[in-house]
This record gives sequence, structure tokens and C-alpha cells, in this order.
Amino acid sequence: METVVSGIRSTGNLHLGNYFGAVKNFIKMQKEHNCFFFIADMHALTTHPKPGDFKNGVRSVMIEYLACGLDPEISTLFVQSDVPQIPELYLLFNMYAYVGELERCASFKEKIRKHPDNVNAGLLTYPVLMAADIIIHRATKVPVGKDQEQHLEMARNFVNRFNHLYGNDYFPEPTAFNFGEALVKVPGLDGTGKMGKSEGEGNAVFLNDAPEVIRKKVMRAVTDSGPSAANQPKTEPVQNLFSLMNLVSKKDTIQSFEDAWNNCTIRYGDMKKQLAEDIVTFVAPIQERMKEIASDEKYLKNTIEMGGEKARISAAKTLKDVREIIGFLNA
Ligand code: AMP
Repeated sequence: METVVSGIRSTGNLHLGNYFGAVKNFIKMQKEHNCFFFIADMHALTTHPKPGDFKNGVRSVMIEYLACGLDPEISTLFVQSDVPQIPELYLLFNMYAYVGELERCASFKEKIRKHPDNVNAGLLTYPVLMAADIIIHRATKVPVGKDQEQHLEMARNFVNRFNHLYGNDYFPEPTAFNFGEALVKVPGLDGTGKMGKSEGEGNAVFLNDAPEVIRKKVMRAVTDSGPSAANQPKTEPVQNLFSLMNLVSKKDTIQSFEDAWNNCTIRYGDMKKQLAEDIVTFVAPIQERMKEIASDEKYLKNTIEMGGEKARISAAKTLKDVREIIGFLNA
């Protein structure tokens, strides 16, 4: 069994891409490993959110993850700012991170390019906070996307420097969790690329979209002019519809549209109607749970408190050890 840590962003609703690309794996992982999932609210402060929006964002993200099936009884589901040991470890690890390597980090360079008016020190040291998030639980595995691999590499460098400096092997090297075959790319509805919240209006179907919104979005999905010969390879927009169907529709439904494609009788209108209904059916129980959780303030509060408590126990142990290793007078 591995100790796994994964951060969850603190704002924005989940779409089908997030569900099938990340959350579904978390749900499986939590049954097999010692998992810590946290809402990264401190990381979000780099963009200076307004307090009200900030609070609501964290609350609704927690509701969505719980509704999807993250189980606070078997995994540790917590809010980053409830664990003060994380920023303390972050401060300590800033001593083992060099300004040059932080400045060379690709995500930092991109942030400077996109937001030259807000190049704060928190952005520069973001990889250090991310390392602290991981190593505070002495995690060995981190489920990361390609864009996070450099950060994980940096976390390994900080850990190795610490271990080397103090002549021990206290921290294990965190490595990427390998999902193998399970990693899917969920396409969007605009005919190209993947589903994403910043890919334009209508490209993503959110788990909390009302049925009529889902139908409208799917009916507007990009297609092509139809197959002109039997058994043709599919164009990207049509393949995308089939890929979405593969996630939410029954096998024989998919097969009937495959057959219709292959013998050139496919009607995209019918396919989209079916896909929309299958998505509506898929999200219905999740939406039902979201409503239940949102209306039970006590459950939500207790769940968040319980997660914080579990995370603090794990974090306090690491921090005590680290303070001892460093040589603080009172570890
Ligand atoms: P984001 O919403 O961009 O912050 O993505 C959060 C996580 O969701 C990513 O690290 C991916 O693991 C996953 N994800 C987002 N969009 C997709 C997609 N279209 N297909 C597969 N996985 C996705």
C-alpha cells in the first residue's frame, strides 16, 4: 500500500473531463491506498480571490467530490488551510529550494507571461508549497498530469537535498502514480481537443448542469457532413462523440451507432439525442447527492473537521521529526 497525496483545486465546478480523467481514479485509489486528498485553498491565494467567493468555492468543491464518491471514512479528505503544519514545512523547505531553479520552472514563466502585473513571491515558491503538501504525509505517490511532472521533480530535488544535508533518508522520493491504461482523455464538444472549462462556452458538460443545459450543449456539438463510404475512419468531431458515448452509454447503444456509421445510415441528431440522455442519466445520481450534502450543513462541517483532524495528526508527526532532524531547541 502506498501513501498517496493529491491536491484538488479550490474553485470551479467539475466537468466530465475531471470526473473520468481524475475523480474516478481517486475513487478507485482510495480503496487500495492510504490516500490524502486536499482542497488546495492556499495555492489559490496567488490570484487574490474575494473572501466570499473563496469560501463558496471551497465549499462547493468539497460537496462535488463527496457527491462523486470520495469517501471521508476511508481516505483523508481535508482543506489545506486547516493544517498549519503545511505552511510551516513550506517555510522550512524554502531553505532547500534555490531561486534559480524556481525561476526556471515552466509554470512560473507562463504565469509571468500571462499575468505580468501580479508576479508575487507565492507564485515563485509554488513548487515548494506543493512539495510541502506531498511530503508532510511522507507520500510516495502523487497522481499528476503531464503539466505537474516538473513540480514533482522539484519536490524530489528538495527532499534529496534535505536528506543529504542531514545525512538521513527520512523523506521518501515522491513519484508519479501510474494509472497505466486507466488514464483517459475526455474530448470536448467543439470538435477538437479535450474537454476543459477554459476551452470556450459549451465545450464542457459540468456535473451540475441541468438536463436542459446538457441537451442544448450536446445538440450543438460539432460533427461533420457524414460518411461517404462504408467503414470509413471517423473524423475527429465524430470520434469525440463516440468517445463520450464510450464513457456514459450502454455497449449495445454504442454498437448500434457504430454499425450505423459503418453502413452510412448514421444520423448525428439521433446520436446526440441519445448521448445527451445518457449523460443526463449518468449525472442524475451525482446531482441528487450534491443536493443532499449541500442541505446538510452539519454533515459537511463534521466531514471537513474530521478530515482536518486526521491530516493534522499525520502532519504533526512529520513536522516533529523534521524539527528534531533540523535541530530546533524545542522539537
Ligand atoms: P483542471 O480542471 O484543468 O484543473 O483539471 C484537473 C484534472 O482533471 C487534471 O489534472 C486531469 O487529471 C483531469 N482532466 C481535466 N480535463 C480532462 C479531460 N478533458 N480529460 C481527461 N482528464 C481531464
